[in-house]
Amino acid sequence: MKIYLKKNEERRINIGHQWIFSNEIERTEGEITDGGAAELYSSRNAYLGKGFYNKHSLIAVRFLTGGDEEIDREFFRKRLKTAEQRRRKIYPERKSFRMCNSESDFLPGLIIDKFNDNYSMQIFSKGVESFRDDICEILKEEFGAKLIVEKNDNELRTLEGLEKREGVLFGDNEAEESEIDSIKYSIDILKGQKTGFYLDQAFNRVKIRDYVSENSKVLDLFCNEGGFALNAAYAGCRDITGVDSSEYSIQTAGKNAALNGFEFIKFECADVFDYFDKAFQTKEKYNLIVLDPPSFTKSKKNIPAAVKGYIELNYKAMRLLHKNSYLFTYSCSHHISEKQFEEILVKAAEQAGRRIQIIDFANCSYDHPVLPQMPETKYLKGYILNIN
Ligand code: SAH
Repeated sequence: MKIYLKKNEERRINIGHQWIFSNEIERTEGEITDGGAAELYSSRNAYLGKGFYNKHSLIAVRFLTGGDEEIDREFFRKRLKTAEQRRRKIYPERKSFRMCNSESDFLPGLIIDKFNDNYSMQIFSKGVESFRDDICEILKEEFGAKLIVEKNDNELRTLEGLEKREGVLFGDNEAEESEIDSIKYSIDILKGQKTGFYLDQAFNRVKIRDYVSENSKVLDLFCNEGGFALNAAYAGCRDITGVDSSEYSIQTAGKNAALNGFEFIKFECADVFDYFDKAFQTKEKYNLIVLDPPSFTKSKKNIPAAVKGYIELNYKAMRLLHKNSYLFTYSCSHHISEKQFEEILVKAAEQAGRRIQIIDFANCSYDHPVLPQMPETKYLKGYILNIN
């Protein structure tokens, strides 16, 4: 199968972007198989490489290689080994990390998180889906997987014509203890959110250790399984509250606290907006607040509503902070840029009547690389602010 692009539409591919949209294709040649690997050519007949084709998706091609290698099990094995070796370098001690970050690891549409010998897989493209069993074999043969779970419940799959599905592909699922940056977590891949656990914030959670002392009063909002709160406790802080609306997350956060001997952390199952109302009544003030909400917008058209939501959250958090305190604030919406997020923080500070300074910028952890030539690979951004 051959795909010829329209005039000049090879430019993005040539700088390292990995998507070709359906309207950029001039014509196809040969038998079309959805999810199959196709050869790509420019309008001038120059060979560009190979990519997975899906005629039902707006992202019609996901680029795989500029060479002429076969797209087979060995191709996946090679790319996965390279991705894994990169992590071993960054985290020589860790047994849990994101092993494959889709486009950013040159395997578009494939995410694999590893927790000890347990692997969690998310597939977003028809091409990768057809290699699911091969990927499982590689995880067993090459990496010694004892458990492989697919967490394919993401809405994005429907855009590819793929069904949503979750379940065990190999082994027996049960919660297992994983250690990340000296903190113990009980992780149940099937029951936890997304791939089972948020590894992207690991790096930012550790940073909290530098900003708390024994006497700090810390509030971890949208705490999920307690990552930021546990790191604050690790640094010696004793007055910590974590809030999340998911009953399961709060239960697991409590379990994690006990695993580390941090039973003093208070975890509360509540909606953060309700929690704010309660906190304003009791007039409690904090020295550090973490604000790590879920994505407020998955599409461009909802940006105005999302901006309003972020301003409200940040303004309310700022009001609850003492003078000379810290706000760790994040946005994981791809559609909110860093510049927009800074404007949100300026508006929030104005409404709260506070002065803010940026102390540090946040990105995803190192096992979630970002491609500057492909802005779609960036989603998490955040700031450590000093609030006066
Ligand atoms: N800070 C976490 C990750 C947060 S993910 C960590 O370090 O792992 C976002 C979390 O927000 C999820 O756990 C989700 O259950 C929770 N959530 C979503 N809407 C909420 C709401 N309105 N109030 C409280 N929690 C909410």
